[in-house]
Amino acid sequence: MQITIALTKGRILKETLPLLAAAGLEPQEDISKSRKLIFPTNRPDVRLLILRGVDVPTYVQHGAADMGVAGKDTLLEHGSDDLYEPLDLGIARCQLMTAGVKGAELPRGRIRVATKFVHSAKRYYAARGRQADIIKLYGAMELAPLMDLADEIVDIVDTGNTLKANGLEAREVIAPISSRLIVNKASMKMKYQPISALIDKLAAAVATD
Ligand code: AMP
Repeated sequence: MQITIALTKGRILKETLPLLAAAGLEPQEDISKSRKLIFPTNRPDVRLLILRGVDVPTYVQHGAADMGVAGKDTLLEHGSDDLYEPLDLGIARCQLMTAGVKGAELPRGRIRVATKFVHSAKRYYAARGRQADIIKLYGAMELAPLMDLADEIVDIVDTGNTLKANGLEAREVIAPISSRLIVNKASMKMKYQPISALIDKLAAAVATD
């Protein structure tokens, strides 16, 4: 039975590969140096897909991949309950936060919020009874308050250096973030034995990491 695992290049891949290796899985070539999107592994029944991070939950939800590794920020934004999330890999830790110009007070009434995390931001402000107009951006969110496009941003914060370098301050934590293993619900039933064995090995690798 073939198992397909969806991953994403960059930070998550770098931190996921050692966990996969500890679970006995290694790609047959250096993924970071290849333009390919499908990679065989040392196990003939397991292959890896390299996708954009936001596409990982979509592939797994539809069963185009059996399993995947995705940031909790991406999963919150994807917003579907139609996936199992059996394991917190404890990697790529950061926080989803609100931030704004240092020392600047929020205006009363409606505020403008720039973010790429539209759904998470909407949910957050609605839960606080705050009227927020969400402005969708695809990057460089830090610029929005500086150019008065927005009163606040919702973004990923790790060290806080990016905010600081742009005269912004982190305000409230919306959610702690780390990468999660996700599994397609039908795959979990149909391929229970190999998938649960892999989850157990990854869980052991995470525990000793
Ligand atoms: P920092 O300056 O350390 O607070 O990092 C902030 C920027 O790095 C953010 O704007 C994010 O785009 C990116 N970043 C940091 N950690 C992560 C992570 N775990 N996952 C995705 N992006 C991250």
